[in-house]
Formats: sequence, structure tokens, C-alpha cells
Amino acid sequence: MPMDSSQSGPQSGPQSGQRITTSGLVNIRSKEELIRQKLEEERVRLTREMGIESHPQRHFKRPVENPFTKSQRANTTLLFGGLTWKHEQLVHGALEGLGYKCRALPVPNVAAFQTGKEYGNNGQCNPTYFTVGNLVQFLQGLEQEGQSRQEIIDNHVFFTAGACGPCRFGMYEAEYRLALRNSGFDGFRVMLFQQSGGLNQSEAEAGLEMNVDFFLAILNALNMGDLINDAGYQIRPYEAHAGETDAVMKECMDTLQDVFKNHRRFTLEGKAGGFLKNLPLGDTTEYIGKFLDQLFGKEYTGAFKTAGERFAKIKVDRLRVKPIVKVTGEFFAQTTEGDGNFNMFRFLEGEGAQVLVEPIGTWIMYLMHQAKQQKKDRKGVNGEEAMPAAWRVDKRVKNELRMRKSLAQLTLAEAIFKREWNRLREALNYLPHDLTDQYELQRMAHPFYNSRAAGGEGHLEVAKNIYYSNKDLAHMVLSLKPFGCMPSTQSDGAQSAVVNLYKDMIYLPIETSGEGEINAHSRVQMALGEAKVKAKQEFARVLEETGLTVEQARDYVTDHPELESGLYRVPHHKGVIGAAANFVKHVAELMKSERRTRVAYAAAD
Ligand code: SF4
Repeated sequence: MPMDSSQSGPQSGPQSGQRITTSGLVNIRSKEELIRQKLEEERVRLTREMGIESHPQRHFKRPVENPFTKSQRANTTLLFGGLTWKHEQLVHGALEGLGYKCRALPVPNVAAFQTGKEYGNNGQCNPTYFTVGNLVQFLQGLEQEGQSRQEIIDNHVFFTAGACGPCRFGMYEAEYRLALRNSGFDGFRVMLFQQSGGLNQSEAEAGLEMNVDFFLAILNALNMGDLINDAGYQIRPYEAHAGETDAVMKECMDTLQDVFKNHRRFTLEGKAGGFLKNLPLGDTTEYIGKFLDQLFGKEYTGAFKTAGERFAKIKVDRLRVKPIVKVTGEFFAQTTEGDGNFNMFRFLEGEGAQVLVEPIGTWIMYLMHQAKQQKKDRKGVNGEEAMPAAWRVDKRVKNELRMRKSLAQLTLAEAIFKREWNRLREALNYLPHDLTDQYELQRMAHPFYNSRAAGGEGHLEVAKNIYYSNKDLAHMVLSLKPFGCMPSTQSDGAQSAVVNLYKDMIYLPIETSGEGEINAHSRVQMALGEAKVKAKQEFARVLEETGLTVEQARDYVTDHPELESGLYRVPHHKGVIGAAANFVKHVAELMKSERRTRVAYAAAD
């Protein structure tokens, strides 16, 4: 007897000893068809009811990008942004010096965020909205000034960083294009500098020359921006005359921008240069010359020293007790000085804190460090290639050598980068902080956050929290993470284990979004209250240990005006965090050494 399919349930398959006959199979098939048909009818009914029309599928195709060619360079303005105004002013000078017309976008504000939301996709992380909206807002501003859309599209190019992920950073390019299209600027050119793999040459080759000069100029601009930014944040909270640091900063940045603009790049010139250039290794000779010019040239360091002399004249009072707040978090949120992080730097300083800012240099070192780790992990095996069999010793040796060569190149790059950093640091009397050691950061964070997990700041958020708290460098760590940031959300999970282990640390994660500034500020105020108490207790302890009073320390400073210089470097003491506490310790040491010298002189007499 064939089974009646209308009575059979999912469990009513053939029992032992039973078999499905041909007519049974036909019944099952017709039942499935019936279900499919019913489903389709229901789908049609529901889409009709809800007013959702069904369209043929249209797959996204990357739009063809209009090229930026060399011949357009004279009439094309390169737009860029997303850093601090200090970095941007120097990058501006560097690009001008390379012969480009350029303009930095304003610091993204809440209106830019709203614009980004209006024209972009749903569900992006907020730096996307801020930066994308900022570009659209800027272009709309150009239109209001009287330029036509076509003129804007023809005469401008936006240049920014990009990556292939793994977080939403990989979607930035698509987001820029979508928002530009939605806002009526379809065809506007966006050029990406890929974090891994350099610039997308197919787009930029002709218009923007990504040569050695370009990279050196940008790197110098970023390093100088980092160092001067760091110095500014260390001096401003203690300045004797309000506003002086900002005024000096502005003056120095204008001068430094001109230095970049007028910088003479090394080229093989004259008869001898022409001769060398025509030799088979002519280009290499020129590269070596540029490289040596970078390593031993005095133009940038000299100009930076002059800026340092100006900063040194700012009078400071380092006896002001202030908690030091290390700002970490996602790259954009911890860097921008505007609505993108609720104006957090200004707020913290207004609340009486000293802010420890994060340099872009750490990020560059992190990228090199990660590249090295990846080379080691892959053992010289490239891309999709499989590891050669154990008996293919020749191939394995070749891979090993390839890996060692890459590692050596990256190690050299790290060493050069650090050297250049410290050369500039010296011009500011080593006041700005040194680059943090990536190996130490990795060692600290890895037990909590796998250091091979890339995306965003990776393990750095966890690492910096432990580093700055345990090394007595900050009373409080404030992590700024954009709403919807994937890697930062992961970090937050790991940070709960970190704060459980290091009970004394004051760690506050703040989610930044376009809204909610008051709420964020009040949470920071609460944590800052604890940090202030910590700083005051530490100061009282140091006074007790040294046996000094604030008045005695102040009198000593009056007799030694060099201690009031903005660039005076106070040594850091183990177990002491605050600038005032370290300063009192230092004054006590100076007094002691003076006493010893007096006694020695008296004994000699
Ligand atoms: S790190 Fe976070 S905020 Fe930045 S692009 Fe990735 S997901 Fe977005």
C-alpha cells in the first residue's frame, strides 16, 4: 500500500521493512511543491499588503572613478582632514611644498555628523558619519559660496586613509561614494591611501605622485605635529599667563608650515648630478641622497629647535596639583579636537586635568609591529600559497630567507622612525613623551586581548590602559570609543578583566556619538573626582616625604627661574604620577645637591 502523504508527518519516513514506492515519492514531491506555492502566495500577499514592491536584484558595482591626472594638478585642490589642526597645518605645508594646491577640511562638528547620517548608510560607526558628513558639508559650503557642482567635482579631490577592514574602516571608501552620490556630488573623486599596500595607484598615479619625497614630507609633518601637540598639552595647564601656549603654538605652526612649504628636496642636479642620474643606478643614487638628507639634514630639526625656544619662554607654575588623564580609544575619537569626542580635551583641561594625548606615531609603530608579527606567523609563505612539504627543504629555506629579509627591513624601518622621532624630540628638550615600546604593549595586553586580532586599535586599548596605569604615568585612563565601534566593543569586554586584576586603576570608557555630550561629561566628571583625590593625596605624600612645604618649593623656584620654563624637563620618579608631585621631588633633590655642594666647598675652604 502506498503511504498517504497527507497523513505522514516529518517522522513518518519508511519504517524498517517498509519502502517508498514511486507513487509515494510523487506524493511527497507534490506536497513540497504545494508548500512552495503556498509560501510564494503568502509572500506576494504580504509584500502587496506592506507596499513593498519586488524588483529584480541589482548587484552593487563599484562606480568607475574619474582619474586625477597630472595635467589637472594645477587646477585641482587636494582636500584632506580628520587629524588635529596642528597635524593638518603641517601636512598642508608639506603638500604645498610638493607642488599641490590643498585645503584642510574643518574639524568635524555635530552638523557634519547629521549630514553623514542623512546621506550615508544606516548602522555605521560614528567616525564614518563625522568624516563623510564633514566632506559633504564642506562641498555644500563651496556651492553656497558660488561654485557650481560641476566645478566642485572637477576641481577637487579628497584624499584619505583606507583599509580592507576587518572593521568598518574597510567600508569608508564606499560610504564616501554613497554619501557623495546621495548629496548630488556623484563623480567627486576620493583617493585612498591604503593602510596595507600603499596608495591605490590605479586611481592616483598620475595626479598624486606617491614617491619618496611625498612619504618623507608627510611623515615629518605627522611627527612634528605629534610632538608639538604633546608639548602643548603638557604646558597649557600650568601656564602662568592664560592663553600664552595657544598663541605661541599658533605662531610656531605658521612658521613651521612655511618651512615645509619652502623645503628644498634633495635631487641630483647640475652636471655631476645629471651624469650620476644617467648611470644604471641613477635613481637609486638619488633615493640614497634623499634618505641621507632626511637622516642628517638640519632644516626640520633647526626649525623645530627655534619653535622649542619659543615654547621655552612660556612661564609655567608646575606646583598646580592636577590629575593626569591619559586619553586612549579608537583612532578618530582619541585624536579629533571637536564634537567627534564631545570636545573632551578642552573639557578635561577646563575641569583642571592635564591631558596625555596619543601620538599618531604610536599608530605607525603599531602598523610596523603588526606587519612583523604577520611575517613571522606566515613564515615567509605568501598569500594563498601553502606551506611546502617538509621534504622540500629548498623551498622552506627560501621562505625562511624571504621572511628574515622582510623582518630585517621592518626592524630597520622601526629603528629609523624612532631615531627621527627622538631627533625632533631633542629639539623640544625631550619634553614630549617617547614612543611606547610595541613589544612591551603586546606583552601586557596579550593575556587579555589576542595581539593578532586586528581591526581598530587592536590590543592597544587594553595595553595602554595597563601601561599608563602601571608605569605611574596617569592617574586615570579615559578610553574614547565611538558608538558602534566593533574593535572597541571587544576591548571593553577584555577591560573588565583588566580592571578586576588591577584594582587601583581608574579606567573610564566613554562611548562617543553625535549626541549625549552632557551625559558623557558628567560621567567623566565623576571619575575625574576620584583622580583628583588621588593626585592630591600623592602630592601630600611627596611633601611629607621630602619635608618641604609648597612655599619653600615656590621660593626655590623664584631663585631658579629656569624651573619656570615651559620646556624645563622634570624627571619622572617611580611611584609618582602628577607633574606637581614630581616637581616637588625634583626641587628637593636639587636643594639637597646644592647643600652637598655648599658643604663640600666649605670643607675645601
Ligand atoms: S575602529 Fe571602530 S570606529 Fe574606527 S572604523 Fe573601525 S569600527 Fe569604525
